[in-house]
Amino acid sequence: MKNTITVDLEDYYQVSAFNDAGAPTNWSSFSSRIENNTAKLLSIFDEHSSKATFFTLGWVAEKFPKLIREIADRGHEIACHSYNHRSVFSLSPEEFREDTRKAKRILEDLAGVPVFGYRAPSFSIKTNSPWAFEILTELDFKYDSSVFPIRHANYGWPLAPRFPFSIKTPSGAITEFPMPTVQWRGARAPIGGGAYLRLLPYWFTRWGIRHMNDSEGLAACLYLHPWELDWEQPRQSGSPSARLRHYFGLKGAELKFRRLLADFEVQPMIVLWHELYRDSPRVPQMLLSELGSGNGLKESNNTRKPSAEFPGKS
Ligand SMILES: [Zn+2]
Repeated sequence: MKNTITVDLEDYYQVSAFNDAGAPTNWSSFSSRIENNTAKLLSIFDEHSSKATFFTLGWVAEKFPKLIREIADRGHEIACHSYNHRSVFSLSPEEFREDTRKAKRILEDLAGVPVFGYRAPSFSIKTNSPWAFEILTELDFKYDSSVFPIRHANYGWPLAPRFPFSIKTPSGAITEFPMPTVQWRGARAPIGGGAYLRLLPYWFTRWGIRHMNDSEGLAACLYLHPWELDWEQPRQSGSPSARLRHYFGLKGAELKFRRLLADFEVQPMIVLWHELYRDSPRVPQMLLSELGSGNGLKESNNTRKPSAEFPGKS
């Protein structure tokens, strides 16, 4: 089974943990490292003959158009990671629509192909912002990958399904690819990317992905940021937890990432989306109204196992 590999294309000063220092109005004052870090990432992908999905910040695309063209020319998928990296739940629906529309237009102009995928900054589509799915559908996105089905102080949709599902909105349907987790007796643990890849021992990450693949028939949605391969990046001030999440394990991240690509076959998210819909839809469908209340989905919907013909079982 192939897993998906995704990159959130943003620079080290744009992460939400350092929002106070790194407000968008200050971004131009930082010295950028995104071109070198992305070049390193692209080389590693080439070494493993791997293609990825790059969820790209519109601001980055505007500033580094050649970089976006190069990523697209090398066969990777360009997808959208907002324009300004503001959390979805901090925006009004109108602000979210404008930010997303602007980023999508910039990316499509540069890549020369339609952009089908969206990932919210810091997984910020939560139980308080399900309206975002309807707007994404209006803007012709085919899939979203913003829901982390865990309990977390800053993000998370604890009762959301752990497997891909389709959300029916008044404007049409959109497929959700949740971030990867392992589940044991009702408790869920995040795996397979970002800080979790750096914080957890590699053997646990590998076990978790194999468990999803072999025991549950689920593809894991792996992810990282270019700055995670750059342990020499300038240090920023922030809360102890923000600094831990951002700086822990940077030195070992490249090796872990290389091992991931050596141990698992990966593909861009849009390829998985096409596979799911090639013959007939093979994803459970939810109504937007089911997602909007309380903690979201009903228990009966989110704990069921994928059906026998769920992708990857064959
Ligand atoms: Zn981000």
